[in-house]
Amino acid sequence: MTDGQLLKAAGAEQPLVAYFSMEIGLDPSMPTYAGGLGVLAGDTIRSAADLDIPMVAVTLLHRRGYFYQRLDERGVQHEEPVAWPINDFCNRVNQHVTVEIENRTVYVGAWQFRVRGESGGEVLVYLLDTDLPENQPWDRTLTDRLYGGDDYYRLCQEVVLGIGGYRMLRALGYGHLRRFHMNEGHAALLVLALLEEKLASRTQEQTVPPDLIDAVREQCVFTTHTPVPAGHDQFPPDLGHRVLGDRRCSWLKACDHEHGLNMTQLALRGSRFVNGVAMKHGEVSNSLFPGYPIHSITNGVHAVTWAALPFQSLYDKHLPDWRRDHLSLRYAIKIPAQEIWDAHVTARRALVDYVNRETNAGFDRDVLTIGCARRAAAYKRGTLIFHDIERLATIAEQGGPIQIVFAGKAHPRDQDGKDVIRRIHEFRDHLRGKMAVAYLPNYDMTIAKLVCAGADVWLNTPLPPREASGTSGMKAAVNGVPSFSVLDGWWIEGHVEDVTGWSIGDRVDACMEPNGGMDACHAAELYYKLEEKILPCFYRDRARFIEIMRHAIALNGGFFNTQRMVSQYLHNAYRLTGEYVRRG
Ligand SMILES: *Cc1c(COP(=O)(O)O)cnc(C)c1O
Repeated sequence: MTDGQLLKAAGAEQPLVAYFSMEIGLDPSMPTYAGGLGVLAGDTIRSAADLDIPMVAVTLLHRRGYFYQRLDERGVQHEEPVAWPINDFCNRVNQHVTVEIENRTVYVGAWQFRVRGESGGEVLVYLLDTDLPENQPWDRTLTDRLYGGDDYYRLCQEVVLGIGGYRMLRALGYGHLRRFHMNEGHAALLVLALLEEKLASRTQEQTVPPDLIDAVREQCVFTTHTPVPAGHDQFPPDLGHRVLGDRRCSWLKACDHEHGLNMTQLALRGSRFVNGVAMKHGEVSNSLFPGYPIHSITNGVHAVTWAALPFQSLYDKHLPDWRRDHLSLRYAIKIPAQEIWDAHVTARRALVDYVNRETNAGFDRDVLTIGCARRAAAYKRGTLIFHDIERLATIAEQGGPIQIVFAGKAHPRDQDGKDVIRRIHEFRDHLRGKMAVAYLPNYDMTIAKLVCAGADVWLNTPLPPREASGTSGMKAAVNGVPSFSVLDGWWIEGHVEDVTGWSIGDRVDACMEPNGGMDACHAAELYYKLEEKILPCFYRDRARFIEIMRHAIALNGGFFNTQRMVSQYLHNAYRLTGEYVRRG
């Protein structure tokens, strides 16, 4: 029995856990996510369904998505709204609720999406929608654009998510919910919704009695995703007062003039269990937020979602339980080397053909392919491999040919991120004739899967400690692709040198020295390992290379998956089993 089935056997017919996230990657054709946070939310829900956990989830509909990325030949990003056929994926729910925004009443409707698990379990997701005739024209656009608009738009969206989402669940009859999981601070107004409901029965109270706050805390779980203070979701104090009103601001003690309305602080104060998304990120968060014990639950990926078809067949043949039980990827150590290689060759061919079709980059099916795809943000340092392009070209000339495939969107207002994309295009042109470089436009889950599975080596070069976890290296691992990465986020836990991949910056102390700079130091290490370890292993010791691929699956695929992660949430954060079985 899964843990979920145990809970159900104890009488939990209705969902006990409500999961709130501003973005959820439910289907590659639904643009309801922007990047890692949404993909993680989707993988979490898919694993909860596999494990039959009594969960329900809430997000916004995002009628116009995040954006469709078009790149011109110089690598300048153009953003277009996404049109998608909602009816093809979701069913409208015959229910609406209201929220108050700046003394207006906004009506909130919902659409339902079903996530089905491997053993028949199911998690329902409600996508909130304000495009209703009852609303004023501007309010009708509130659930259109993910991370679009200004602070005012964003805060209104968070009212819809946290407060509207909670009221919607109540209106739909979810009466047994025991835990509310806020995936990042965007959902923190859920704390306000819970408090207001409890306060409603005590209309005389001017301040919130401590026992009510304790009762709310008992129900809430918060996962923080950002290791830098500036990355946390916050609003100016006057905006808090304007949107929420003075009374709610004073209850929350959260719209103060020094810090403004800080969603992370609100979620921290309102939760009994708080966690970061990798061991190191938990530690960093502890020092960012003294006074709150912050645990670590390292992220994962949903293995069935991210394994390419040739690997799915390979696992079906050798690890027949793997779809139900991701831990059995550990037994990949017994899969014959040749079969791993054959599956990889098929996955790589799919990538190379796609790259050539889309970009005319002239990729070769037998050349070492480095994959580097993720959100284009400056701290991810997507151009690090080009730090010294003459050196890079020489390494390829002497050690064996290299081709590099990039992908990733920059947030529409992130000029530095857009510059990263443009510069990669410049380096591409500069290297023409020496090394094929391609930039695939409109990065999404489909392209992520293609690139993570089809690359020979997965490159990640964030500036530490900025990568809270990172998950694309985990997607690579379930496809036997080793990582070559800066020691940050999950890779600190997943890295065994020459066994699961390679680190950049072993000599981390040397890299801290002021004169060379972190970039120069990491680039030197990157070139050194590419030249001395990766190229020789790939071109001249294929058996050892496949051995590393096998360990990427067994050691990292077996652990960095959302089935393990969701079990940890269940046992460490939700802690429902004992309580539910005891109190019934
Ligand atoms: C997995 C994924 C991400 C996150 O990748 P990181 O390595 O965590 O940066 C972003 N976007 C898409 C489309 C993804 O599939």
